[in-house]
Amino acid sequence: MRLSKMYIRTLREVPSEAEIPSHIWLLRAGMIRRLVSGVYGFMPLGFRSVRKIEEIIREEMDAKGGQEIHMSALQPAELWQESGRWYAYGPELWRLKDRNEREFCLGPTHEEIFTDIVRNEVSSYRQLPLNLYQIQTKYRDEKRPRFGLMRSREFVMKDAYSFDRDREGLDASYHDMYDAYERIFKRCGLVFRAVEADTGAIGGSASHEFTALSEVGESEIAYCDSCDMAATTERAVCIDDDPSTEAELPMEKVVTPGTKTIEEVAGFLNVDATKTIKALLFKVYGETEDVFEYVAAFIRGDRELNMTKLINALGIPEHAIEFADENAMAEVTGAVGGFTGPVGLHDCKIVVDSELVGQKNLVAGACEKDHHIINVNYDRDYKGDIVTDLKLIKAGDRCPVCGAPVKLARGIEVGQVFKLGTKYSKSMGAYYKDENMEDQLIVMGCYGIGVTRTLAAVVEQHHDENGIIWPVSVAPYHAIVTIVTSGDETQEALAEAIYQELLKAGVEALLDDRKERAGVKFKDADVLGIPVRITVGKKAAEGVVEYKLRKDPTHSELSAQDAAAQAIAYIASELNR
Ligand SMILES: [Zn+2]
Repeated sequence: MRLSKMYIRTLREVPSEAEIPSHIWLLRAGMIRRLVSGVYGFMPLGFRSVRKIEEIIREEMDAKGGQEIHMSALQPAELWQESGRWYAYGPELWRLKDRNEREFCLGPTHEEIFTDIVRNEVSSYRQLPLNLYQIQTKYRDEKRPRFGLMRSREFVMKDAYSFDRDREGLDASYHDMYDAYERIFKRCGLVFRAVEADTGAIGGSASHEFTALSEVGESEIAYCDSCDMAATTERAVCIDDDPSTEAELPMEKVVTPGTKTIEEVAGFLNVDATKTIKALLFKVYGETEDVFEYVAAFIRGDRELNMTKLINALGIPEHAIEFADENAMAEVTGAVGGFTGPVGLHDCKIVVDSELVGQKNLVAGACEKDHHIINVNYDRDYKGDIVTDLKLIKAGDRCPVCGAPVKLARGIEVGQVFKLGTKYSKSMGAYYKDENMEDQLIVMGCYGIGVTRTLAAVVEQHHDENGIIWPVSVAPYHAIVTIVTSGDETQEALAEAIYQELLKAGVEALLDDRKERAGVKFKDADVLGIPVRITVGKKAAEGVVEYKLRKDPTHSELSAQDAAAQAIAYIASELNR
């Protein structure tokens, strides 16, 4: 492609909407353009890279026996009502009505649709296992779309669904997909970790998230260098501190004026935060807003509450819980803002972190303004309706598997795989007949990759202060031949010859033949991040050009033939890696 003919406009300035490198560089390189908040269009170069990621995914899915189909983004509400997710998915589900008031959604995922297809068409065990996938546009009505392609309202996703006869079949399908995902992300040039994850709104019994490591990522993972433990912090089990051996002392109410926070009360009473109980108060809604209950969660004062664990313990959807209005809650439960403790609280559900059971003589709010109680002990003084691990793991906590200190890292969730089991086949009635002609539930798995998010993750991991540095596998073009002096016939002829040589060898090449200053062309080449750059300048008369890889700081002078040959060999080796 000749750049003089290409529809492209690079930007000199950082667009004000962009905060993170992938967003900045994809905009500046003219690869994406914003339509409205959280909705982007792909320009020629951006779309080429998207298609390359899609092709890598297709090759690896097909290699595992996946079969590609294409379903509509528009999904009837009835199917979501059948699975129970019309309510459970909450406000992120993009709902709409047709002119006859029939309800639909724009799918954020397709479990219901694929289950529906298969329940209508699969009847015998002979038709299983089956793996169907699609690469398709998804929608999520994000509260706060941000970071360009990272958290957008419209995005391209690959979603696959496996259908097996039994658990063993699902285990094999899951393993295959896990394997395919490792290959896909490796081929895209990503440094990533597969970590145990929460199953969230998708559901099921087990899940792994594929996390591209990046400081700007919204996923936090906990991992251990001494063993294989790796999980999202949402999911990671947090080990209770060893139980205390202290003798239980009698409870005593003490005056603690104005000490609303853990730091204030610990400071005032001169005790460590580990000797205090922290209260977090919530309102939890039923399917309608007028049905609700109050929930008080208690953890040790030095710990942070893990919302995902609380939501799972309560068995509610994520959108059904919010922080309680202290005054409204006080009237019903006796809670007192800043002074709430488990003793004296009534008419609310009490969820206690398991660690508190073994700790002795703690300080808790007295449910009375400016008062706390000291020497509060579980069982003797209060009990929980639910007792479970509610803690958010932090760096240095003990590894739940081997006990070594855990480390934390940030990353971008680029894929997730789930063992759904019979969650959808049960609620939607997807059966097959086994060898004895008996009805059996189909056992399912589902497997997603954020295609456009993967593109952003690649840029996050592959850029410098001058622009993108594409891995060859997903680069929009492999090589760029730049004419330094526009109008110089010798340079133009030599550049043209190299360009043709590259094309003939199957290299996806760009020829920068624009009537621009050399500086503009060099800057653009950096921003675009094309892996191989051949610059044809003053030494063209001697048949000598500059050869440079975008990722390397240095260039070499080569004959035009050698430069073309080197480019062809380099690209072939990178693509075969
Ligand atoms: Zn470990």
